[in-house]
Amino acid sequence: MIGAGVIGLELGSVWRRLGAEVTILEALPDFLPAADAEVAKLAARELKKEGLDIRLGAKVSKAEVTGKGKKKEVAIAYTDASGEQSLVVDKLLVAVGRRAASKGLLADGTGVQLNERGQVVVDDHCHTGVDGVWAVGDCVRGPMLAHKGFEEGIAVAELIAGLPGHVNLDTIPYVIYTAPEIAWVGKTEQQLKAEGIPYKTGSFPFAAVGRAVAMAEPVGFAKVIAHAETDRVLGLHLIGPNVSELVHEGVLTMEFSGSADDLPASATPTRPCPKRSTTRPWRWTSARSTRPTDDGPCAADSCRRAACPAAPRRWHGPPPGPGTARAFPFREALNATSAPMAAAVAVRRHPRDPRPAHVHHD
Ligand SMILES: Cc1cc2nc3c(=O)[nH]c(=O)nc-3n(C[C@H](O)[C@H](O)[C@H](O)COP(=O)(O)OP(=O)(O)OC[C@H]3O[C@@H](n4cnc5c(N)ncnc54)[C@H](O)[C@@H]3O)c2cc1C
Repeated sequence: MIGAGVIGLELGSVWRRLGAEVTILEALPDFLPAADAEVAKLAARELKKEGLDIRLGAKVSKAEVTGKGKKKEVAIAYTDASGEQSLVVDKLLVAVGRRAASKGLLADGTGVQLNERGQVVVDDHCHTGVDGVWAVGDCVRGPMLAHKGFEEGIAVAELIAGLPGHVNLDTIPYVIYTAPEIAWVGKTEQQLKAEGIPYKTGSFPFAAVGRAVAMAEPVGFAKVIAHAETDRVLGLHLIGPNVSELVHEGVLTMEFSGSADDLPASATPTRPCPKRSTTRPWRWTSARSTRPTDDGPCAADSCRRAACPAAPRRWHGPPPGPGTARAFPFREALNATSAPMAAAVAVRRHPRDPRPAHVHHD
């Protein structure tokens, strides 16, 4: 495989699990630089454990088919830190990236602009600047992802119909369908450091999530990154079982400019409180939350959830009020049914943090 990007890793991981010996040659020196560094580190470890031979800093210069019929092979030449290298393989898959297929698409004089990468130039609302001409999907700026294209298509249809339509490129989630899965939304720690944005993080391992352990898939973690001053969620980074389905918790929170405190509050876990109707999902609330909850307090004395509206009377800490929910961050985290929620709770590591919550300076 040439290219250890998303597609190279997905196909490489699939072929490896089907029994093939897979070598991935990647020109860049870093593994998965687009992902959060901690996620990329664990992904590299797990994929190597799976048997993928990932060679970084390996720039392919030539690939040639040799032999005939069943004896056909591909001879590859590449250079790495040690100099010229060669490799002979049965099959070669090339996954070095994609580009907009815009060559010859537009007649001269349409007024629609292409940029230096061949992408159709559009504004924030996918309009090309030419009356009645819009462009969406892989041929315009932004991540080349199917759900981003869908969103843009819907937004444009709404705009044409005179309705408000908008796509927030900052909350488009990324998923890599390897084993374990990788998913994220928002900024990575590297990006925030480079941009000088103050942040704090909270992580939670799948090894402490009952369902992951029961599934025998304890590898991985959820990591929430929040603004150090406003608590606003800036990123959710996941590696582990089914994380492609958990990343939406971060998308939703970020779409509503939510805080790390909101992430567990707004997400809806599936585990109900004991003795509560199972048809009603459990709503996470903290003692200081003033949000209305239609669940009402839990009547079960046996309910030991710190987050249960009935729980404050069992707390042995300071009376409920600002900051009280922070008194039991880890216990709350353990009660959370999803790792992203638990990681969001873990962001609040300082029980006596006096800051009022939910201040969104942005
Ligand atoms: C191997 C692989 C795996 C992927 N996995 C994922 C994934 O897991 N999740 C995800 O979100 N995205 C994934 N993607 C990306 C996803 O497929 C694209 O982002 C998505 O298909 C883009 O949609 P689109 O409509 O913009 O372009 P396309 O789906 O490429 O559709 C464009 C269509 O326009 C046609 N066309 C081109 N030029 C002309 C012309 N001049 N006249 C008429 N028709 C033309 C093409 O034939 C094509 O059918 C993957 C891509 C690849 C290659």
